[in-house]
Amino acid sequence: MRTTENDRQKHVVVLGSGPTGLTAAMLLAREGHRVTVLDKDSGGATADAEQAWDQWKRPGVNQFRHPHIMLPAAFALLTRELPEAVTQLRALGARTHNMLDGAYDLAPIGGRKPGDERFDTLAARRPVIEQGLTNAALLAGVTVRRDTPVTGFLTDATPATGIAHITGVATAHGELVHADLVVDALGRNSSASKMLVDIGAPAPVLDRHETGFLAYSRYFRSADGSYPDQAAWPLEHHNSISLTTVPGDAGTWALALFVSAKDRALRALSDPEVWQRVAALYPDMAHWASHGEPITGVLAMSGMESRHRGFVVDGTPVATGLLSIGDAWATTNPTFGMGITMGMAHAVLLRDVLAEIGFDDRDKLALRFDEVTEATLHPAQQASAAWDLHRLAQIDLDIASIPYEVGVAYETDDADWNLRQALEVAKLRDPDVLRAFGDVGSLLTSPEEALARPGVIDRIMELGGDAVGRPQSGPTRVELLAAIVAN
Ligand SMILES: Cc1cc2nc3c(=O)[nH]c(=O)nc-3n(C[C@H](O)[C@H](O)[C@H](O)COP(=O)(O)OP(=O)(O)OC[C@H]3O[C@@H](n4cnc5c(N)ncnc54)[C@H](O)[C@@H]3O)c2cc1C
Repeated sequence: MRTTENDRQKHVVVLGSGPTGLTAAMLLAREGHRVTVLDKDSGGATADAEQAWDQWKRPGVNQFRHPHIMLPAAFALLTRELPEAVTQLRALGARTHNMLDGAYDLAPIGGRKPGDERFDTLAARRPVIEQGLTNAALLAGVTVRRDTPVTGFLTDATPATGIAHITGVATAHGELVHADLVVDALGRNSSASKMLVDIGAPAPVLDRHETGFLAYSRYFRSADGSYPDQAAWPLEHHNSISLTTVPGDAGTWALALFVSAKDRALRALSDPEVWQRVAALYPDMAHWASHGEPITGVLAMSGMESRHRGFVVDGTPVATGLLSIGDAWATTNPTFGMGITMGMAHAVLLRDVLAEIGFDDRDKLALRFDEVTEATLHPAQQASAAWDLHRLAQIDLDIASIPYEVGVAYETDDADWNLRQALEVAKLRDPDVLRAFGDVGSLLTSPEEALARPGVIDRIMELGGDAVGRPQSGPTRVELLAAIVAN
């Protein structure tokens, strides 16, 4: 069911102009609502990708200049729902990139096939992605107000249900902005919890790990606009370290190294010389750090754990009139590049639930949105969180294995993790397994659906079962530490 006449020209205030907030704003504007986006940061408002990259200051998003990939599911979503955003992104230089391009030529894979265009996405640096989305939002009639920090929620004085109903927000400039619905897209450090407590509402239930990962990334650019050859798969996990290749626009790309936040020896990766020596150790990806010239130092990022906020506690929403989406609801390990895509998918869910329920039944809207969110997006977030715990435990063992030359195998009876280990190996040895892995990694398909394809699980165990409970491939920790201290 689409939005009814009664719901038309409602005012929706979206807090946060990151990819999630902008996507939600555009989708809701297309439904006929009046949409205002408020963000504390100042704007890019430029038609020039290089200006967005060089000059746009975004203290509200710590990872703004870190490498980002939009997964194919995000590209499919934008193409289907917001084609004008694709046009704006392309106008700024975003280019088509196929996630599996590095694998098609491998002998067991046997070339590209019809249907593989579903693995296409748009590659661009994050400031360029945000600028393209901003330009599209402005064209869609969304009001985007920058330099407007939100400091508190407005609420019904006497809510009939006893549940606080949010009716707008207060800004740092002392302005009160009234809304029929407030959308919290304030990102991973969203202040919505604090603002709820300030008005006497319960805080959402926060679920987070105490440990996480650190990223050390570096951007490069070629003089002739060329790009390094794509690796067979853009993400590799080795002893103590994971590497991911991230294509950009305008002859730029990045290589990101992810380590455990507990691994003190690897903090030396913030030194560009150390970083270059370590990147050179991994033959499938080393050329991503040697083709072209670096255009940044090493970009270090901490505080990257999977976390989740529950907005319905014991069957009751913490508030109504407020829906949280994207990172403000939950975050995933950035190694898998899912955040933007999940945020955009969440924006579509919000649009659809609002169209189904309307604005007036406040409780039902909050409960239904929570139900759909938890059923649709939470499984991927939980899988990411579960992977984190295993990976961190595996790296703990890597660290403890010193001074042994060979890594110690991490063993667990968790069937999901073990299947994942087999899959990491099998994906480049079978065309159907590759596409099943590609569909899940691109967020096009759920793992359940991909694994239910005929013969896929058998092929995974046949081709990759040996990897389960074995030390990881590639340089050992001893070799890694030697590269770190080498002169
Ligand atoms: C190192 C790193 C690498 C990553 N790589 C990838 C990747 O490759 N692919 C991917 O999809 N995801 C990646 N992610 C995750 C991705 O960055 C997030 O999922 C994404 O930014 C979430 O978008 P969002 O719009 O929900 O929130 P954000 O992008 O965080 O936007 C929140 C907005 O709210 C604004 N704001 C905050 N507080 C206030 C306030 N009080 N008042 C007004 N405005 C406010 C901020 O200024 C900001 O604009 C990565 C994350 C990290 C840390």
